[in-house]
Amino acid sequence: MDSDDLRRYLAFYQDLGISDLYRRAPSADPAPEPVREPEPRSKLIEQTQSTMIALPGLAPESDTLLRIIQDIGDCKRCRLHQGRNKIVFGTGNANARLVFVGEGPGADEDVQGLPFVGRAGQLLTQMIEGTASKEGIPLKREDVYICNVVKCRPPENRTPEPDEMEICGQFLFRQLSVIRPKAICALGATAAKAILARKEGVTRMRGNWFKWNEIPVMVTYHPSYLLRPYNQNAKREAWEDLKKALHFVYD
Ligand code: URA
Repeated sequence: MDSDDLRRYLAFYQDLGISDLYRRAPSADPAPEPVREPEPRSKLIEQTQSTMIALPGLAPESDTLLRIIQDIGDCKRCRLHQGRNKIVFGTGNANARLVFVGEGPGADEDVQGLPFVGRAGQLLTQMIEGTASKEGIPLKREDVYICNVVKCRPPENRTPEPDEMEICGQFLFRQLSVIRPKAICALGATAAKAILARKEGVTRMRGNWFKWNEIPVMVTYHPSYLLRPYNQNAKREAWEDLKKALHFVYD
């Protein structure tokens, strides 16, 4: 890694809101360096990287949702900022025991700056509150936390690109780390892919538990998919998945 590479590398971390980097402290009594033949350049790059700086974990210590919002700032880290009206960070109970993760804002969310407020959002609210009430669990939408993989609306509601998911996903992971819910519900393929980095489609994964950083993750269908009239079977399955998640979290 030459100095330009290192500068780019550090700028990338700074863009993610990480401004503190630490040099690894030299050991108290360093052993004398053995005399060696010069290393090939590629090996030197690795050594320079590992001995010069220890990159912090992606979440700064004592992270908070507020700090994440501040770090996102007036984000221009990826192309999605070009068409956005409002950044859609997330909403709900910051101490929620259950977090729902969708794909990215649609038109209504982009206008209001709030996740899942359009048709898919109404269905999600109905699913959460209706299933909870049927199961005897006193739960309202505002008791859970709801957010998305990407915080800016993709043009024409297209699926977020991998680089957009990677850049914005760092903020999602910080949100999840701060909230540390008892379970996460991944809504649809994009959320499942971002959180679990698995190749299977939602149809195969749904209804099953996976883990993200020791937190159980339930995968289910995205509410937009359930709005299509020919997906009634999926709707029933999604209700089953949600029931499972709610009982796991609130029993
Ligand atoms: N679809 C999503 O994935 N997220 C929203 O916030 C709205 C629709």
